Amino acid sequence: MIKFLDLHKINARFEIEFRAAFKKFLDSGYYVLGNNVTQFEKSFANYCGTQHCIGVSNGLDALTLILEAYKIQGKLQEGDEIIVPANTYIASILGITKAGLKPVLVEPNLETFNIDAAAVEAAITWKTRAILVVHLYGQLTDMRPIQDIAKKQNLLIMEDAAQAHGAVNSEGKKAGNLSDAAGFSFYPTKNLGALGEAGAVTTNDAELAEIIRKLRNYGTSSKYVNQYKGVNNRLDEIQAAFLNIKLRQLDADNEERSDVALRYCMGIDNPEIRLPTHPRDGSHVFHQFVIRTENRSKLQKYLAESEVGTLIHYEIPPHKQEAYKEWNHLHFPITEKIHNECLSLPISPVMDEFDVNTIISLLNSYSNH
Ligand SMILES: *Cc1c(COP(=O)(O)O)cnc(C)c1O
Repeated sequence: MIKFLDLHKINARFEIEFRAAFKKFLDSGYYVLGNNVTQFEKSFANYCGTQHCIGVSNGLDALTLILEAYKIQGKLQEGDEIIVPANTYIASILGITKAGLKPVLVEPNLETFNIDAAAVEAAITWKTRAILVVHLYGQLTDMRPIQDIAKKQNLLIMEDAAQAHGAVNSEGKKAGNLSDAAGFSFYPTKNLGALGEAGAVTTNDAELAEIIRKLRNYGTSSKYVNQYKGVNNRLDEIQAAFLNIKLRQLDADNEERSDVALRYCMGIDNPEIRLPTHPRDGSHVFHQFVIRTENRSKLQKYLAESEVGTLIHYEIPPHKQEAYKEWNHLHFPITEKIHNECLSLPISPVMDEFDVNTIISLLNSYSNH
């Protein structure tokens, strides 16, 4: 059986260091917002190239906190429109609605799966205040045209970087440092994954960072002094300890992912299977390796019968979810095509070559007829 993702194998590599970090944590008697969180915030800001990083409870809270902080700054107001890709994980959109703002869904590019700049421009109204890009499946959004639009229209840009830790553009700038503020998730399956829930915000805006730092901790400015109606969205100390250890391995892990992706791209040769783009410049960190095929359920069943695990990211687009009934009548042909045809193959930094070759052979002998 080739698992879709072997999380135990990924984390077993760090067992000795994890146990030592846990012992130190236990013995310290200090379990919330301690040295491990401070250290991680410093290291992750440094890694991303941003001036600030605020550790938070998860990726959804990271996005929500950014938007709430902008409301406090007066840069966003309830009811403002935020442009977001229609084909994202629902968390990107939940963050916007949770903050009392209005998501405006736009189509992606079929080849990159990322937001289409022309569609962004067409969706702008007098109420548009920001664009939330999502570096989907680990591939950076082409930011140049987005930045041009934002400048012209005086809009904020935010990144949902939950799938793109370490992705780097042609100027050497990393995900999390390509906009006004970015939200990261360290959910266990992500390229940088904790052993539980965790997230972060990165930004170069000192004032925004300070507001988020307070908001995540009950709006506290100093002990028992509450400046804002905050929340409890703190990054857990033990998760920060684990993340400090795993961050050192992130670049090497991303290279392993890229190697697997390259092998798939060179090896898979079947007219019924469309491969993702593989820019070999570090701008895609292959959180997922997503192929498209017309008869997806047949291909998924064929692989399952050959004991290969696959997943669909994602089967139902946000506008077709019951949670957003008000959008169920909307039609986004490119988004719907992606959701109907996409299939994620196993990819991870610990996948062995034999398994990759097995999957390639299986796909090359697959026929839809
Ligand atoms: C995982 C993910 C999130 C949410 O992160 P959580 O830590 O699960 O809250 C948000 N956006 C995208 C694109 C994600 O992949």
